[in-house]
Amino acid sequence: MLHHDIRRFLDALDDLNPAQIEDAQTKIRDLRQKSEAILEIEARTKQEHKCPFCGDKRRQKWGRTRTKIQRYRCGGCQKTYSGRTGSAIGRIYRPDLFMVALRDMLGASAPQSVRKLARELKLNKYTIWRWRMIVFSIVGSSSVAASFSGIIEADETYQRESRKGSCEWVRHFADPQNIPKPPRPRWEDFTTQGLKMMRGLSRWQLPILTVADRGGARLFRRLPDRKGVTVERAMKPLVPGDAVLCSDGGNGYRSLAAAYGLEHFVVGSKPGTRVAAGCYHIQNVNSLHARYGKFIEPFCGPATKNLNGYIRWLEVRTAGVRPADAIRAS
Ligand SMILES: [Zn+2]
Repeated sequence: MLHHDIRRFLDALDDLNPAQIEDAQTKIRDLRQKSEAILEIEARTKQEHKCPFCGDKRRQKWGRTRTKIQRYRCGGCQKTYSGRTGSAIGRIYRPDLFMVALRDMLGASAPQSVRKLARELKLNKYTIWRWRMIVFSIVGSSSVAASFSGIIEADETYQRESRKGSCEWVRHFADPQNIPKPPRPRWEDFTTQGLKMMRGLSRWQLPILTVADRGGARLFRRLPDRKGVTVERAMKPLVPGDAVLCSDGGNGYRSLAAAYGLEHFVVGSKPGTRVAAGCYHIQNVNSLHARYGKFIEPFCGPATKNLNGYIRWLEVRTAGVRPADAIRAS
């Protein structure tokens, strides 16, 4: 648009009535979302600057794609590509809205539910859900290998196993003669019978190892079981030989410390025993557990098959990864 056209356009805004102002605002917001998404995706190609098909760096500008993103033609193989080609978001129809969803997932405030976000973006909730799974696959593969040093705190938190969406109870009720009752209790069993059922429930609780040091490195990792040897095996590559370990008295931590001659401070879980001495405590991992609980709570017990995705999602949020960097890593 020419300079004086823009002037005229802006002047015309003065004559809008309240309803029209509302419309204009929505329109501008949509346009901004779109242009920001395009800038983020284009930043990705600028950075890489090579053909996703043959790796050739020679290229020329070749118009724009349907979504207005710069397209290039490779000087080597003559194929055309854009910043989205070959990435996890390459086949998404509305990259602009995907970026909104991604920002919602990684932003500073708590993420919205799939349903709410779908309503806001006027999309089907399954689309949002699919996008969320795509983000899980992106952040899951770009593992930020945390490296720990100094005083290292470790502990486990637990997530109840969930076969949400699996239909195993539905199948049982449809044909109780032939399809046995699933072995694990249902959600309602936990709430109505509460404590009575606590015994033996631990096998439905999936352990998540959390590790933190005083330099800000953080890690959440799902463990296959609660055995000491499992904890020890998971911890081994994380803890350098000169580190100081703070943990509860679990066998895994004890034998890790013994095997590597680590200085080890055992911290109790009861009030008054939580600090071994001065700065030897596990308050950072405890606050990670609180953060995990708060983060996971709105999802009402995510299906176990997606739990790793949720854990990585929290880890990426905790590390403060910028949305654009998350897709650039893909
Ligand atoms: Zn090429």
